[in-house]
Amino acid sequence: MSIKSIISKRIEKKLGGYKIQLNKIDSVLPEKLSNEKSVGIIGGGLAGVSAAIFLAERGFAVKIFEKEKYLGGKVGSWPVSFEDGFSTNVEHGFHAFFRQYYNLRNLLKKIDAFKYLIPIDDYLILTKDYGNFGFKDISTVPILNILSMAKTGIYSYKDAMLNPGFRKMTSLLSYNREKTFSIFDKVSFKDFANEVKLPPEMQLMFTTFSRAFFAEPQYISMAELIKSFHSYFLSNDLGLLYDVLNDDFEDTLWNPAKEYLSKYKSSILLDSKITSFRKDGNQFIINNEQFDYAIIASDVKGTKNIIQNSDYFKNEHHEFYNQIINLKQSQRYSVLRVWIDKDIRQGVPFFIFTDALEILDSVTIYHRMEKTSEDWVKKNGGGIFELHSYALPDDFPEAEVRNQFLKEFEEYFPEIKGYKIKYEYLQVKDDFTAFHTNLYKNRPTVKANVNNLFLAGDWVKLESPAMLMEAATTSALYCANKIIEQEGLQQETIFSVPLKGILS
Ligand SMILES: Cc1cc2nc3c(=O)[nH]c(=O)nc-3n(C[C@H](O)[C@H](O)[C@H](O)COP(=O)(O)OP(=O)(O)OC[C@H]3O[C@@H](n4cnc5c(N)ncnc54)[C@H](O)[C@@H]3O)c2cc1C
Repeated sequence: MSIKSIISKRIEKKLGGYKIQLNKIDSVLPEKLSNEKSVGIIGGGLAGVSAAIFLAERGFAVKIFEKEKYLGGKVGSWPVSFEDGFSTNVEHGFHAFFRQYYNLRNLLKKIDAFKYLIPIDDYLILTKDYGNFGFKDISTVPILNILSMAKTGIYSYKDAMLNPGFRKMTSLLSYNREKTFSIFDKVSFKDFANEVKLPPEMQLMFTTFSRAFFAEPQYISMAELIKSFHSYFLSNDLGLLYDVLNDDFEDTLWNPAKEYLSKYKSSILLDSKITSFRKDGNQFIINNEQFDYAIIASDVKGTKNIIQNSDYFKNEHHEFYNQIINLKQSQRYSVLRVWIDKDIRQGVPFFIFTDALEILDSVTIYHRMEKTSEDWVKKNGGGIFELHSYALPDDFPEAEVRNQFLKEFEEYFPEIKGYKIKYEYLQVKDDFTAFHTNLYKNRPTVKANVNNLFLAGDWVKLESPAMLMEAATTSALYCANKIIEQEGLQQETIFSVPLKGILS
């Protein structure tokens, strides 16, 4: 055994393994309900649909109310058509399915959607001033990965040795939910970086990370960033690389989910925005229908609106009402999809981070990633690109977003100079969860302070350090388990990366 593999084994042992089962399953308990119980679920994003699946399998009659005409929320896909008759589906775009998204990947296997995942071959950051950084060759073992990052040029051992502030960086290795949030939730990444005098290249890497959580460095909570670094990078040996769905999300995710749900007592009501709901005795009344249990799985913005309009919560459950109406959504984000008559250079991965001259955070080369786009380009030439800004600066005028995207796109990829746009589709939205400073204390857990009401979504406080899509599915598992447990059934297994960092 090499020294490296001995060290790897030790690190894995110290972390208690890279994949942790969080709950014990009592196999003596029944798996399925023997009586009729119904669950009303508000919101048909990943959290709502996951909860519906976990409960429908156990015999609950589930009903999803979704405000849009399609399922999926932020991972949804919907049709658009253009003046010349061309029609296609669009999305909020590129989504990375990391390999330590244990619960989400199990769900994909369950609904037979796992087969649509394909791997990306590098994690690349393109910068104007510091060159380019690729992370595919760094070690995948926690700690060794940080050490081997030096070879990408993102920091040097000399920097680390000579900078006394660098010692504070060990906080990244010491994730411990309560302690980390009590110390670092009030600190923004920007303030932390200034205090530890982070070298500019390293600031840049953290900034791309921070923006990928839909917040600029002056807003993001350092505790959330430590949690995410722990979850993605310092608690497992799966590396920073990830997989993506190889075609439109409706085909690769939501049709399989709908087909799976159709085998059980389930219904999905699209185009059904819930504006308020109430509880009458033991029953929740949603859209004039009665349910034994309710799950709110709408996004922060939707949830705030629903609770604000619900006199029942305002009058009967003050604490819960205040907790919800004080939730915060993040800055605006934007996605521009363009169909153009030129392609960019070969030899780059299909998803590329940039250092955002002003707004452009990433470029996805759609026709090298998904089948429908590949077919379009084979027929029409050129390329299909998606430009993302995960956190538009607050004062950036919406009217200038499109032109600024295109200006920055051309700066990073000068080979497209003189290109012509065939079609374009712009979205500017403000419904993303805020992972900003000082929000942890007020963040609700899956159990609302109202009997038989539960909350699911990437904005809900969890015991395990899951983020984004994995948080959405994991929150649904926690919700489902609370209901399943209350009905005396066997729980669903929940997995996680280790709950604590190696130095905690
Ligand atoms: C541009 C972009 C890129 C992303 N990239 C990644 C990535 O690479 N990797 C990753 O892990 N995550 C990524 N995410 C985050 C990921 O999409 C979300 O974390 C996840 O999809 C959240 O799921 P959810 O079910 O909690 O919320 P949502 O998807 O927001 O679902 C909430 C649902 O509730 C519905 N709703 C709201 N109000 C009401 C109402 N009043 N009545 C009925 N329904 C209502 C909404 O329409 C929506 O369908 C990205 C998100 C965006 C926007």
